[in-house]
Amino acid sequence: MSEMFCFQCEQTAGCTGCTGRAGVCGKSADVANLQDKLTGALIGLAVDAGGKCPSKEAANVMIDGLFTTITNVDFDGPAVQKVTDRVHELAPNAADYDMAKLWGDNEDIRSLKSLILFGLRGMAAYTSHAAALGYTEDTVTNFFFEGLAAVGSAGTMDSLLPLVLKVGEVNLACMALLDKANTETYGTPVPVTVPLKVEKGPFIVVTGHDLRDLKLLLEQTDGKGVNIYTHGEMLPALAYPELKKHPQLKGNFGTAWQNQQKEFDGIPAPILYTTNCLMIPKSSYADRVFTTGVVQFPNTPHIDDKKDFSAVIEKALALGGYSEDREFTGINGGTQVTTGFGRETVLSNAGAIVEAVKAGQISHFFLVAGCDGAKPGRNYYTEFVEQTPADSAILTLACGKYRFNDLDLGTVAGLPRILDMGQCNDAYGAIQVAVALAGAFNCGVNELPLSFVLSWYEQKAVCILLTLLHLGIKNILLGPSLPAFLSPNVLNFLVENYGIAPISTPEADLAKLLKK
Ligand code: SF4
Repeated sequence: MSEMFCFQCEQTAGCTGCTGRAGVCGKSADVANLQDKLTGALIGLAVDAGGKCPSKEAANVMIDGLFTTITNVDFDGPAVQKVTDRVHELAPNAADYDMAKLWGDNEDIRSLKSLILFGLRGMAAYTSHAAALGYTEDTVTNFFFEGLAAVGSAGTMDSLLPLVLKVGEVNLACMALLDKANTETYGTPVPVTVPLKVEKGPFIVVTGHDLRDLKLLLEQTDGKGVNIYTHGEMLPALAYPELKKHPQLKGNFGTAWQNQQKEFDGIPAPILYTTNCLMIPKSSYADRVFTTGVVQFPNTPHIDDKKDFSAVIEKALALGGYSEDREFTGINGGTQVTTGFGRETVLSNAGAIVEAVKAGQISHFFLVAGCDGAKPGRNYYTEFVEQTPADSAILTLACGKYRFNDLDLGTVAGLPRILDMGQCNDAYGAIQVAVALAGAFNCGVNELPLSFVLSWYEQKAVCILLTLLHLGIKNILLGPSLPAFLSPNVLNFLVENYGIAPISTPEADLAKLLKK
Protein backbone atom coordinates (compact mmCIF):
# COMPACT_ATOMS: atom_id res chain seq x y z
CA MET A 1 0.00 0.00 0.00
CA SER A 2 1.34 3.45 -0.86
CA GLU A 3 2.12 5.87 1.95
CA MET A 4 0.68 8.92 0.19
CA PHE A 5 -0.79 9.92 -3.13
CA CYS A 6 -0.20 13.22 -4.87
CA PHE A 7 0.00 13.97 -8.59
CA GLN A 8 -0.87 17.64 -8.63
CA CYS A 9 2.35 19.06 -10.05
CA GLU A 10 4.56 18.61 -13.09
CA GLN A 11 7.44 16.99 -11.25
CA THR A 12 5.32 14.18 -9.81
CA ALA A 13 7.23 10.90 -9.53
CA GLY A 14 7.50 8.96 -12.77
CA CYS A 15 4.98 11.34 -14.37
CA THR A 16 2.27 9.34 -12.58
CA GLY A 17 2.16 10.20 -8.86
CA CYS A 18 4.22 10.56 -5.67
CA THR A 19 3.43 7.54 -3.52
CA GLY A 20 6.43 6.90 -1.27
CA ARG A 21 7.61 8.36 2.03
CA ALA A 22 7.93 11.81 0.46
CA GLY A 23 7.10 13.58 -2.77
CA VAL A 24 9.69 14.74 -5.26
CA CYS A 25 9.17 18.26 -3.84
CA GLY A 26 10.22 17.03 -0.39
CA LYS A 27 6.72 17.00 1.11
CA SER A 28 6.60 14.11 3.58
CA ALA A 29 3.89 11.46 3.42
CA ASP A 30 2.67 12.69 6.82
CA VAL A 31 2.19 16.22 5.51
CA ALA A 32 0.67 14.95 2.24
CA ASN A 33 -1.88 12.95 4.22
CA LEU A 34 -2.63 15.92 6.48
CA GLN A 35 -3.18 18.02 3.35
CA ASP A 36 -5.59 15.37 2.07
CA LYS A 37 -7.44 15.52 5.40
CA LEU A 38 -7.59 19.30 5.13
CA THR A 39 -8.94 19.06 1.57
CA GLY A 40 -11.48 16.46 2.72
CA ALA A 41 -12.61 18.83 5.48
CA LEU A 42 -12.94 21.72 3.00
CA ILE A 43 -15.01 19.53 0.67
CA GLY A 44 -17.18 18.53 3.65
CA LEU A 45 -17.63 22.23 4.48
CA ALA A 46 -18.62 23.00 0.88
CA VAL A 47 -21.13 20.13 0.70
CA ASP A 48 -22.56 21.06 4.11
CA ALA A 49 -23.01 24.66 2.94
CA GLY A 50 -24.92 23.52 -0.16
CA GLY A 51 -22.19 24.73 -2.57
CA LYS A 52 -22.48 28.38 -1.52
CA CYS A 53 -20.27 30.37 0.84
CA PRO A 54 -22.11 30.66 4.17
CA SER A 55 -19.97 33.30 5.92
CA LYS A 56 -16.85 35.46 5.79
CA GLU A 57 -15.08 33.07 8.17
CA ALA A 58 -15.91 30.15 5.88
CA ALA A 59 -14.56 32.10 2.90
CA ASN A 60 -11.33 32.85 4.76
CA VAL A 61 -10.69 29.29 5.84
CA MET A 62 -11.60 27.96 2.39
CA ILE A 63 -9.07 30.24 0.70
CA ASP A 64 -6.35 29.62 3.31
CA GLY A 65 -6.96 25.86 3.18
CA LEU A 66 -6.78 25.59 -0.60
CA PHE A 67 -3.71 27.87 -0.76
CA THR A 68 -2.02 25.78 1.94
CA THR A 69 -2.19 22.67 -0.25
CA ILE A 70 -0.58 24.20 -3.36
CA THR A 71 2.79 22.67 -4.27
CA ASN A 72 5.72 24.07 -2.29
CA VAL A 73 3.71 26.16 0.16
CA ASP A 74 3.37 24.38 3.51
CA PHE A 75 5.71 21.63 4.66
CA ASP A 76 4.75 21.84 8.32
CA GLY A 77 2.29 19.20 9.59
CA PRO A 78 1.06 21.08 12.71
CA ALA A 79 0.42 24.20 10.60
CA VAL A 80 -1.70 22.18 8.14
CA GLN A 81 -3.57 20.58 11.05
CA LYS A 82 -4.37 24.02 12.47
CA VAL A 83 -6.21 24.98 9.28
CA THR A 84 -8.16 21.70 9.40
CA ASP A 85 -9.09 22.47 13.02
CA ARG A 86 -10.42 25.86 11.92
CA VAL A 87 -12.68 24.12 9.35
CA HIS A 88 -13.96 21.69 11.98
CA GLU A 89 -14.67 24.48 14.47
CA LEU A 90 -16.65 26.32 11.84
CA ALA A 91 -18.71 23.35 10.67
CA PRO A 92 -18.66 20.74 13.47
CA ASN A 93 -21.44 18.70 11.88
CA ALA A 94 -20.02 18.56 8.36
CA ALA A 95 -18.70 15.15 7.32
CA ASP A 96 -15.13 15.14 6.00
CA TYR A 97 -14.82 13.76 2.49
CA ASP A 98 -12.46 10.81 2.18
CA MET A 99 -9.88 11.74 -0.46
CA ALA A 100 -9.13 8.04 -1.04
CA LYS A 101 -12.49 7.97 -2.86
CA LEU A 102 -11.26 10.58 -5.33
CA TRP A 103 -7.81 9.04 -5.88
CA GLY A 104 -9.43 5.62 -6.41
CA ASP A 105 -12.27 6.78 -8.66
CA ASN A 106 -12.82 5.96 -12.33
CA GLU A 107 -9.86 7.60 -14.15
CA ASP A 108 -11.96 10.08 -16.14
CA ILE A 109 -13.95 11.26 -13.13
CA ARG A 110 -10.74 11.49 -11.11
CA SER A 111 -9.18 13.49 -13.92
CA LEU A 112 -12.02 16.01 -14.20
CA LYS A 113 -12.42 16.39 -10.44
CA SER A 114 -8.65 16.88 -10.14
CA LEU A 115 -8.77 19.63 -12.76
CA ILE A 116 -11.48 21.33 -10.69
CA LEU A 117 -9.69 20.84 -7.36
CA PHE A 118 -6.24 21.87 -8.57
CA GLY A 119 -7.66 24.80 -10.53
CA LEU A 120 -9.44 25.99 -7.38
CA ARG A 121 -6.20 25.68 -5.41
CA GLY A 122 -4.50 27.96 -7.92
CA MET A 123 -7.39 30.42 -7.89
CA ALA A 124 -7.29 30.50 -4.08
CA ALA A 125 -3.79 31.97 -4.25
CA TYR A 126 -4.97 34.85 -6.45
CA THR A 127 -8.06 35.37 -4.30
CA SER A 128 -5.87 35.50 -1.21
CA HIS A 129 -3.58 38.19 -2.67
CA ALA A 130 -6.58 40.29 -3.74
CA ALA A 131 -8.25 39.86 -0.33
CA ALA A 132 -5.05 40.96 1.42
CA LEU A 133 -5.54 44.32 -0.35
CA GLY A 134 -9.22 44.45 0.59
CA TYR A 135 -10.66 43.24 -2.73
CA THR A 136 -13.18 40.39 -2.79
CA GLU A 137 -15.95 39.29 -5.12
CA ASP A 138 -18.89 37.05 -4.22
CA THR A 139 -18.89 35.21 -7.58
CA VAL A 140 -15.33 34.09 -6.95
CA THR A 141 -15.84 33.25 -3.28
CA ASN A 142 -19.01 31.26 -3.89
CA PHE A 143 -17.45 29.26 -6.67
CA PHE A 144 -14.91 27.66 -4.32
CA PHE A 145 -17.88 26.10 -2.54
CA GLU A 146 -19.73 25.15 -5.73
CA GLY A 147 -16.61 23.55 -7.20
CA LEU A 148 -15.60 21.63 -4.09
CA ALA A 149 -19.15 20.45 -3.48
CA ALA A 150 -19.04 18.92 -6.98
CA VAL A 151 -15.73 17.23 -6.19
CA GLY A 152 -17.38 15.68 -3.13
CA SER A 153 -20.52 14.51 -4.97
CA ALA A 154 -21.31 11.94 -7.63
CA GLY A 155 -20.56 13.26 -11.10
CA THR A 156 -20.36 12.23 -14.73
CA MET A 157 -18.14 13.38 -17.59
CA ASP A 158 -21.08 15.41 -18.85
CA SER A 159 -21.77 17.12 -15.53
CA LEU A 160 -18.12 17.76 -14.66
CA LEU A 161 -16.76 19.06 -17.98
CA PRO A 162 -18.75 22.33 -17.91
CA LEU A 163 -17.61 22.87 -14.34
CA VAL A 164 -13.97 22.42 -15.39
CA LEU A 165 -14.42 25.25 -17.90
CA LYS A 166 -16.28 27.30 -15.30
CA VAL A 167 -13.13 27.21 -13.16
CA GLY A 168 -11.46 29.01 -16.07
CA GLU A 169 -14.30 31.50 -16.38
CA VAL A 170 -14.33 32.37 -12.68
CA ASN A 171 -10.54 32.48 -12.57
CA LEU A 172 -10.63 35.17 -15.27
CA ALA A 173 -12.82 37.26 -12.95
CA CYS A 174 -10.44 36.47 -10.11
CA MET A 175 -7.36 37.57 -12.05
CA ALA A 176 -9.21 40.74 -13.10
CA LEU A 177 -9.94 41.39 -9.42
CA LEU A 178 -6.28 40.96 -8.48
CA ASP A 179 -5.18 43.17 -11.38
CA LYS A 180 -7.54 45.87 -10.09
CA ALA A 181 -6.32 45.37 -6.51
CA ASN A 182 -2.65 45.62 -7.50
CA THR A 183 -2.95 48.59 -9.85
CA GLU A 184 -5.34 50.59 -7.65
CA THR A 185 -3.14 50.01 -4.62
CA TYR A 186 0.36 50.25 -6.10
CA GLY A 187 -0.18 52.09 -9.42
CA THR A 188 0.17 51.02 -13.02
CA PRO A 189 3.43 49.14 -13.65
CA VAL A 190 6.03 51.21 -15.52
CA PRO A 191 8.73 49.50 -17.62
CA VAL A 192 12.00 49.31 -15.75
CA THR A 193 15.47 47.90 -16.27
CA VAL A 194 16.50 45.91 -13.24
CA PRO A 195 20.15 45.36 -12.32
CA LEU A 196 21.20 41.96 -11.05
CA LYS A 197 23.83 43.53 -8.80
CA VAL A 198 23.67 43.45 -5.00
CA GLU A 199 25.04 46.61 -3.42
CA LYS A 200 27.28 46.45 -0.37
CA GLY A 201 25.67 46.58 3.05
CA PRO A 202 22.78 44.83 4.80
CA PHE A 203 20.02 43.47 2.63
CA ILE A 204 16.94 41.22 2.60
CA VAL A 205 15.80 38.96 -0.24
CA VAL A 206 12.01 38.65 -0.64
CA THR A 207 10.60 35.75 -2.61
CA GLY A 208 7.06 34.67 -3.52
CA HIS A 209 4.19 36.73 -4.94
CA ASP A 210 2.69 38.76 -2.11
CA LEU A 211 3.07 42.47 -2.95
CA ARG A 212 1.50 43.54 0.33
CA ASP A 213 4.15 41.71 2.33
CA LEU A 214 6.82 43.47 0.28
CA LYS A 215 5.16 46.86 0.78
CA LEU A 216 4.98 46.37 4.56
CA LEU A 217 8.62 45.29 4.65
CA LEU A 218 9.58 48.38 2.63
CA GLU A 219 7.72 50.64 5.05
CA GLN A 220 9.41 48.95 8.00
CA THR A 221 12.89 49.28 6.43
CA ASP A 222 12.55 52.94 5.40
CA GLY A 223 15.63 54.79 6.64
CA LYS A 224 17.13 51.70 8.32
CA GLY A 225 20.04 51.20 5.90
CA VAL A 226 18.77 47.81 4.74
CA ASN A 227 18.33 47.20 1.02
CA ILE A 228 15.62 44.97 -0.41
CA TYR A 229 15.97 42.66 -3.40
CA THR A 230 13.17 40.81 -5.09
CA HIS A 231 13.54 37.16 -6.02
CA GLY A 232 11.63 34.95 -8.47
CA GLU A 233 8.02 35.96 -8.98
CA MET A 234 8.54 39.12 -6.89
CA LEU A 235 10.58 40.71 -9.73
CA PRO A 236 7.59 42.55 -11.31
CA ALA A 237 7.10 44.40 -8.00
CA LEU A 238 9.96 46.66 -9.13
CA ALA A 239 7.64 48.18 -11.76
CA TYR A 240 4.89 49.35 -9.38
CA PRO A 241 5.25 53.10 -8.55
CA GLU A 242 4.11 52.75 -4.92
CA LEU A 243 6.71 50.04 -4.28
CA LYS A 244 9.45 51.57 -6.42
CA LYS A 245 9.27 54.83 -4.53
CA HIS A 246 11.14 53.23 -1.62
CA PRO A 247 14.79 53.84 -2.55
CA GLN A 248 15.99 50.74 -0.70
CA LEU A 249 14.14 48.52 -3.23
CA LYS A 250 17.26 48.06 -5.30
CA GLY A 251 16.92 45.21 -7.75
CA ASN A 252 16.53 41.49 -8.15
CA PHE A 253 18.61 38.69 -6.68
CA GLY A 254 18.94 35.22 -8.11
CA THR A 255 17.34 33.35 -10.94
CA ALA A 256 14.59 30.73 -11.00
CA TRP A 257 13.06 29.28 -7.85
CA GLN A 258 14.53 25.82 -8.38
CA ASN A 259 18.05 27.33 -8.09
CA GLN A 260 17.38 28.64 -4.58
CA GLN A 261 19.31 25.99 -2.70
CA LYS A 262 22.44 26.92 -4.64
CA GLU A 263 21.89 30.68 -4.76
CA PHE A 264 20.66 31.23 -1.17
CA ASP A 265 23.50 29.15 0.25
CA GLY A 266 26.14 31.54 1.51
CA ILE A 267 24.45 34.91 1.03
CA PRO A 268 25.04 37.20 4.03
CA ALA A 269 21.36 38.11 4.31
CA PRO A 270 17.98 36.79 5.46
CA ILE A 271 15.34 35.58 3.01
CA LEU A 272 11.63 36.20 3.49
CA TYR A 273 9.34 33.61 1.85
CA THR A 274 5.86 35.01 1.16
CA THR A 275 4.36 32.29 -1.06
CA ASN A 276 5.31 29.28 -3.15
CA CYS A 277 7.88 28.96 -5.96
CA LEU A 278 10.39 27.81 -3.37
CA MET A 279 12.63 24.97 -2.30
CA ILE A 280 12.86 23.53 1.21
CA PRO A 281 15.80 25.45 2.76
CA LYS A 282 19.06 23.55 3.26
CA SER A 283 20.44 23.43 6.79
CA SER A 284 23.38 25.59 5.65
CA TYR A 285 21.14 28.65 5.35
CA ALA A 286 17.98 27.64 7.25
CA ASP A 287 18.95 29.97 10.12
CA ARG A 288 18.44 32.94 7.77
CA VAL A 289 14.99 31.94 6.53
CA PHE A 290 11.72 33.55 7.64
CA THR A 291 8.26 32.64 6.38
CA THR A 292 4.98 34.52 6.38
CA GLY A 293 1.43 34.02 5.09
CA VAL A 294 0.66 30.42 4.19
CA VAL A 295 4.30 29.36 3.77
CA GLN A 296 5.61 27.25 6.65
CA PHE A 297 8.58 24.98 7.20
CA PRO A 298 9.12 22.99 10.42
CA ASN A 299 11.26 24.83 12.99
CA THR A 300 11.46 28.01 10.93
CA PRO A 301 10.49 31.42 12.32
CA HIS A 302 7.09 32.45 11.00
CA ILE A 303 5.95 36.08 10.85
CA ASP A 304 2.27 36.08 11.78
CA ASP A 305 -0.57 38.23 10.44
CA LYS A 306 0.61 41.25 12.44
CA LYS A 307 3.43 41.41 9.87
CA ASP A 308 6.07 42.66 12.25
CA PHE A 309 9.25 42.10 10.27
CA SER A 310 11.63 43.36 13.01
CA ALA A 311 13.31 39.97 13.35
CA VAL A 312 14.10 39.86 9.62
CA ILE A 313 15.47 43.40 9.68
CA GLU A 314 17.59 42.68 12.77
CA LYS A 315 18.97 39.59 11.07
CA ALA A 316 19.91 41.64 8.00
CA LEU A 317 21.70 44.20 10.14
CA ALA A 318 23.51 41.47 12.09
CA LEU A 319 24.65 39.65 8.93
CA GLY A 320 25.76 42.92 7.36
CA GLY A 321 25.55 41.92 3.70
CA TYR A 322 28.50 42.08 1.30
CA SER A 323 31.45 44.37 2.02
CA GLU A 324 31.61 45.41 -1.66
CA ASP A 325 29.04 45.56 -4.45
CA ARG A 326 28.59 42.10 -5.94
CA GLU A 327 27.69 41.47 -9.60
CA PHE A 328 25.42 38.54 -10.47
CA THR A 329 24.05 37.32 -13.78
CA GLY A 330 20.99 35.59 -15.13
CA ILE A 331 21.24 32.03 -16.40
CA ASN A 332 22.48 33.19 -19.81
CA GLY A 333 25.11 35.56 -18.42
CA GLY A 334 23.06 38.78 -18.73
CA THR A 335 23.59 41.41 -16.04
CA GLN A 336 20.15 43.01 -16.16
CA VAL A 337 16.54 42.18 -16.90
CA THR A 338 13.47 44.27 -17.69
CA THR A 339 9.92 44.12 -16.38
CA GLY A 340 6.81 46.29 -16.14
CA PHE A 341 5.32 45.80 -19.60
CA GLY A 342 1.87 45.31 -18.13
CA ARG A 343 -1.33 45.52 -20.15
CA GLU A 344 -1.65 49.32 -19.86
CA THR A 345 1.85 49.89 -21.23
CA VAL A 346 1.41 47.43 -24.07
CA LEU A 347 -2.08 48.68 -24.88
CA SER A 348 -0.89 52.30 -24.84
CA ASN A 349 1.34 51.21 -27.74
CA ALA A 350 -1.45 49.24 -29.42
CA GLY A 351 -1.83 51.67 -32.32
CA ALA A 352 1.89 51.54 -33.12
CA ILE A 353 1.92 47.75 -32.71
CA VAL A 354 -1.00 47.29 -35.10
CA GLU A 355 0.66 49.58 -37.65
CA ALA A 356 3.94 47.68 -37.26
CA VAL A 357 2.15 44.40 -37.95
CA LYS A 358 0.37 45.85 -40.98
CA ALA A 359 3.69 47.23 -42.28
CA GLY A 360 5.32 43.82 -41.87
CA GLN A 361 7.71 45.03 -39.16
CA ILE A 362 6.32 42.56 -36.60
CA SER A 363 5.67 39.13 -38.06
CA HIS A 364 4.49 37.21 -35.03
CA PHE A 365 3.79 37.37 -31.29
CA PHE A 366 4.66 34.53 -28.96
CA LEU A 367 3.32 34.28 -25.44
CA VAL A 368 6.07 32.22 -23.83
CA ALA A 369 4.86 32.05 -20.28
CA GLY A 370 4.28 29.94 -17.21
CA CYS A 371 6.23 28.26 -14.49
CA ASP A 372 9.84 27.22 -14.29
CA GLY A 373 10.95 23.93 -12.80
CA ALA A 374 13.87 21.62 -12.34
CA LYS A 375 13.49 19.32 -15.35
CA PRO A 376 16.44 19.49 -17.79
CA GLY A 377 14.05 19.65 -20.79
CA ARG A 378 13.02 23.15 -19.77
CA ASN A 379 15.97 24.60 -21.67
CA TYR A 380 13.50 24.17 -24.57
CA TYR A 381 12.10 27.57 -23.60
CA THR A 382 15.51 29.29 -23.77
CA GLU A 383 16.23 27.74 -27.15
CA PHE A 384 12.73 28.48 -28.43
CA VAL A 385 13.04 32.18 -27.58
CA GLU A 386 16.57 32.39 -28.98
CA GLN A 387 15.35 30.92 -32.27
CA THR A 388 12.29 33.13 -32.73
CA PRO A 389 12.56 35.42 -35.78
CA ALA A 390 14.17 38.82 -35.20
CA ASP A 391 10.95 40.53 -36.28
CA SER A 392 8.82 38.77 -33.66
CA ALA A 393 7.88 39.88 -30.12
CA ILE A 394 7.88 37.69 -27.03
CA LEU A 395 5.28 38.42 -24.37
CA THR A 396 6.12 36.71 -21.13
CA LEU A 397 4.95 36.40 -17.54
CA ALA A 398 5.45 34.20 -14.46
CA CYS A 399 8.74 32.63 -13.43
CA GLY A 400 9.43 30.57 -16.56
CA LYS A 401 10.89 33.78 -18.01
CA TYR A 402 14.09 33.30 -16.01
CA ARG A 403 15.03 30.85 -18.76
CA PHE A 404 15.50 33.80 -21.15
CA ASN A 405 14.83 37.18 -19.52
CA ASP A 406 18.50 38.13 -19.33
CA LEU A 407 18.97 37.62 -23.10
CA ASP A 408 19.43 40.78 -25.13
CA LEU A 409 17.26 40.15 -28.17
CA GLY A 410 17.16 43.80 -29.23
CA THR A 411 14.03 45.66 -30.26
CA VAL A 412 11.22 45.34 -32.75
CA ALA A 413 9.17 48.33 -33.92
CA GLY A 414 10.72 50.40 -31.14
CA LEU A 415 9.79 47.97 -28.35
CA PRO A 416 12.06 45.46 -26.61
CA ARG A 417 11.51 42.04 -28.17
CA ILE A 418 11.02 40.51 -24.71
CA LEU A 419 8.12 42.15 -22.91
CA ASP A 420 7.78 40.96 -19.31
CA MET A 421 4.13 41.50 -18.36
CA GLY A 422 4.51 40.45 -14.72
CA GLN A 423 3.60 37.60 -12.39
CA CYS A 424 1.57 34.53 -13.36
CA ASN A 425 -1.73 36.28 -12.50
CA ASP A 426 -0.83 38.94 -15.07
CA ALA A 427 -1.98 36.37 -17.63
CA TYR A 428 -5.08 38.55 -17.28
CA GLY A 429 -3.12 41.42 -18.89
CA ALA A 430 -1.86 39.19 -21.69
CA ILE A 431 -5.45 38.11 -22.39
CA GLN A 432 -6.57 41.76 -22.54
CA VAL A 433 -3.78 42.53 -25.01
CA ALA A 434 -4.72 39.55 -27.19
CA VAL A 435 -8.39 40.56 -27.16
CA ALA A 436 -7.49 44.18 -28.02
CA LEU A 437 -5.27 43.08 -30.93
CA ALA A 438 -8.02 40.82 -32.21
CA GLY A 439 -10.41 43.79 -32.03
CA ALA A 440 -7.95 46.01 -33.93
CA PHE A 441 -7.56 43.43 -36.67
CA ASN A 442 -11.26 42.59 -36.65
CA CYS A 443 -10.62 38.88 -36.16
CA GLY A 444 -10.69 36.29 -33.39
CA VAL A 445 -7.72 35.70 -31.04
CA ASN A 446 -7.11 32.37 -32.78
CA GLU A 447 -6.69 34.16 -36.12
CA LEU A 448 -3.98 36.52 -34.83
CA PRO A 449 -0.31 35.88 -35.58
CA LEU A 450 -0.03 34.94 -31.90
CA SER A 451 1.07 31.60 -30.47
CA PHE A 452 0.85 30.34 -26.90
CA VAL A 453 3.87 28.34 -25.74
CA LEU A 454 3.30 27.59 -22.09
CA SER A 455 5.20 25.88 -19.32
CA TRP A 456 3.46 24.55 -16.24
CA TYR A 457 4.58 23.36 -12.84
CA GLU A 458 1.90 23.86 -10.23
CA GLN A 459 -1.78 24.58 -9.74
CA LYS A 460 -1.87 28.27 -10.62
CA ALA A 461 -0.86 27.24 -14.12
CA VAL A 462 -3.82 24.85 -14.11
CA CYS A 463 -6.39 27.58 -13.48
CA ILE A 464 -4.76 29.87 -16.07
CA LEU A 465 -4.83 27.08 -18.65
CA LEU A 466 -8.52 26.55 -17.89
CA THR A 467 -9.11 30.30 -18.38
CA LEU A 468 -7.48 30.14 -21.81
CA LEU A 469 -9.65 27.14 -22.71
CA HIS A 470 -12.76 28.91 -21.42
CA LEU A 471 -11.89 31.77 -23.80
CA GLY A 472 -11.69 29.30 -26.67
CA ILE A 473 -7.96 29.74 -27.28
CA LYS A 474 -6.69 26.92 -29.44
CA ASN A 475 -3.45 25.18 -30.35
CA ILE A 476 -1.64 25.90 -27.08
CA LEU A 477 1.71 24.14 -26.78
CA LEU A 478 2.25 22.88 -23.24
CA GLY A 479 5.39 21.53 -21.60
CA PRO A 480 7.67 20.23 -20.40
CA SER A 481 5.27 17.29 -20.04
CA LEU A 482 1.50 16.97 -19.88
CA PRO A 483 -0.20 16.72 -16.46
CA ALA A 484 -0.35 13.22 -14.96
CA PHE A 485 -3.94 13.89 -13.90
CA LEU A 486 -5.21 14.08 -17.49
CA SER A 487 -6.75 10.71 -18.31
CA PRO A 488 -6.47 9.56 -21.94
CA ASN A 489 -10.13 10.43 -22.57
CA VAL A 490 -9.88 13.88 -21.01
CA LEU A 491 -6.66 14.57 -22.91
CA ASN A 492 -8.37 13.42 -26.08
CA PHE A 493 -11.20 15.87 -25.41
CA LEU A 494 -8.68 18.71 -25.03
CA VAL A 495 -6.83 17.71 -28.20
CA GLU A 496 -9.98 17.37 -30.30
CA ASN A 497 -11.68 20.52 -29.06
CA TYR A 498 -8.75 22.84 -28.37
CA GLY A 499 -5.81 21.42 -30.32
CA ILE A 500 -3.69 21.42 -27.16
CA ALA A 501 -0.36 19.65 -27.77
CA PRO A 502 2.88 18.92 -25.95
CA ILE A 503 6.01 20.85 -26.91
CA SER A 504 8.41 18.96 -29.18
CA THR A 505 11.61 20.70 -30.32
CA PRO A 506 12.03 24.45 -30.74
CA GLU A 507 12.80 23.97 -34.45
CA ALA A 508 9.74 21.82 -35.18
CA ASP A 509 7.39 23.92 -33.04
CA LEU A 510 8.56 27.21 -34.55
CA ALA A 511 8.15 25.83 -38.06
CA LYS A 512 4.60 24.78 -37.19
CA LEU A 513 3.64 28.02 -35.43
CA LEU A 514 5.09 30.36 -38.02
CA LYS A 515 2.84 28.86 -40.70
CA LYS A 516 0.01 30.68 -38.95
FE1 SF4 B 1 4.75 15.04 -5.81
FE2 SF4 B 1 4.25 17.46 -6.83
FE3 SF4 B 1 2.63 16.39 -5.00
FE4 SF4 B 1 5.10 17.26 -4.32
S1 SF4 B 1 3.34 18.49 -5.03
S2 SF4 B 1 4.13 15.37 -3.67
S3 SF4 B 1 6.24 16.65 -6.18
S4 SF4 B 1 3.00 15.62 -7.08
